[in-house]
Amino acid sequence: MKIVIIGGGIGGLVTYHALRKHLSETDPSISVKLVESHPSLSNTSRVIGGGLGLAPNGMRAIASIAPEAAAYINERGFLGDTMSFRNSNGRLLGRFNSGTMRRYGFGMLMIRRAVVHEALIPGLREEDVHWGMKVEGVKEVGEQVLVEYEDGTTELADLVIGADGVRSVVQDSLFDGAYKATYDGLTGVGGFIPFSDLSPRLQESFDTHGVTMTFGRKGFFGYSLCVPASTPSPFIQWWSIYEAPSMPNREKPNKDAIKAQLLARHSSWKSPYDSPDSGVYKSIIELGCRDSERPQNPEMQAMLAFDMNVLVLPRYVTPRLPCWTNAGSKNERAQGRIVLLGDAAHTMPPDSGQGVSCAAEDAVVYALLLKHYYTAPDGLRKAAKAYERMRMPRVHRILDVAKRNGDAKKEMGWFAQKFRDTAIWLLCKLPESIHDYAFAYDSEKAVAEFLAKENL
Ligand SMILES: Cc1cc2nc3c(=O)[nH]c(=O)nc-3n(C[C@H](O)[C@H](O)[C@H](O)COP(=O)(O)OP(=O)(O)OC[C@H]3O[C@@H](n4cnc5c(N)ncnc54)[C@H](O)[C@@H]3O)c2cc1C
Repeated sequence: MKIVIIGGGIGGLVTYHALRKHLSETDPSISVKLVESHPSLSNTSRVIGGGLGLAPNGMRAIASIAPEAAAYINERGFLGDTMSFRNSNGRLLGRFNSGTMRRYGFGMLMIRRAVVHEALIPGLREEDVHWGMKVEGVKEVGEQVLVEYEDGTTELADLVIGADGVRSVVQDSLFDGAYKATYDGLTGVGGFIPFSDLSPRLQESFDTHGVTMTFGRKGFFGYSLCVPASTPSPFIQWWSIYEAPSMPNREKPNKDAIKAQLLARHSSWKSPYDSPDSGVYKSIIELGCRDSERPQNPEMQAMLAFDMNVLVLPRYVTPRLPCWTNAGSKNERAQGRIVLLGDAAHTMPPDSGQGVSCAAEDAVVYALLLKHYYTAPDGLRKAAKAYERMRMPRVHRILDVAKRNGDAKKEMGWFAQKFRDTAIWLLCKLPESIHDYAFAYDSEKAVAEFLAKENL
């Protein structure tokens, strides 16, 4: 069986490792190929900017198929499992444990996205991975799937996995472009700053145990460390999320314009750690949007090679897809041979903090189901159906929560703000277990339980 994974983002890479571990390493008749449109590995890593929160459930999924990758990530991320919520008047609304190592075995990590990508590169077999291959479409052809590349070449596969992100061509091919992602009016802007550049007052008071999240009437501002606090030259990550009716230019961000609008939004926000000459939010924005100078410290230079630009990340939404595979295709012989996962199946907004984790879970769950069913008659269709039954309800629940979190970052009036602050205050009184549904998920256990029920 020839499997082609389209997309070498985190979802595609986890899928590769999961299929190798659970299928092709034990059955040599199965081959796994990964194609990615970026021209080279180094190019791919360079364009992966920004930071993210990697949740315990995502780390658990990664650790189950690539323990060395999980260890690499753990060593380089900041354990940011305590959230401090503030409002723009500087008032602490509450603190909340969110994804502690103690409760979940893996902690919530704040980390550069590129590190997670890098961690998954070792173990890829050179002959299996093809950079610079842009897919234009996929088509069911008899009992196979035809993959069409931009350069005019084609190939046949027995199974195609679309891990090609929010503008997925595999999804377009499956639904004739009926479920395209659209910009939903919220944009994220962010970047990294050397810790040593912060004002002495902010350095002294900096929360080295958690993440600070501040909500105002005109958006949201967050900051935290993004490397372990013990790192000799630590960095912080910062990000602002706000309503912008038209999508800002992502490819060529205008730093001055971004800075001006960030200052207009956040510079009057208060923090107990403001210095007499400069407020916390104002100084972070000014540092984050300055023209970067090359630092002398080699460790910092290595980080800056990736990250010194201000990143503009518009938030996309995709309508809920009716299915994530072609298991219901009219062509019975092709059923279950096209499968979507990660953002290609369910665009996960930043507010969930779950996009990468859900993509990793999808990958591990699907690989285990495929392992169970592929030798059975009609096995690919059965695996695809089981995957949809297991994954769609869970991901839809996470998307519902993400939508509520995103709405809290939209512009709002005085009463709405008071209501939101009260809701956050109440949230902080709740036990950490309210997040068990997301963080405690164990892909391997979930598949074992699902299959046990199926066999009853
Ligand atoms: C502002 C912002 C902040 C976020 N913060 C977080 C966070 O804190 N935590 C979190 O878990 N998630 C976060 N997310 C969501 C997360 O980034 C995504 O859910 C996750 O990256 C999805 O992974 P993926 O592999 O499915 O897709 P992607 O990461 O988009 O990877 C898709 C890959 O497919 C390749 N590709 C695309 N088209 C083709 C083609 N035609 N042919 C070949 N290759 C192709 C692309 O080059 C890319 O490498 C955030 C998202 C945004 C926008």
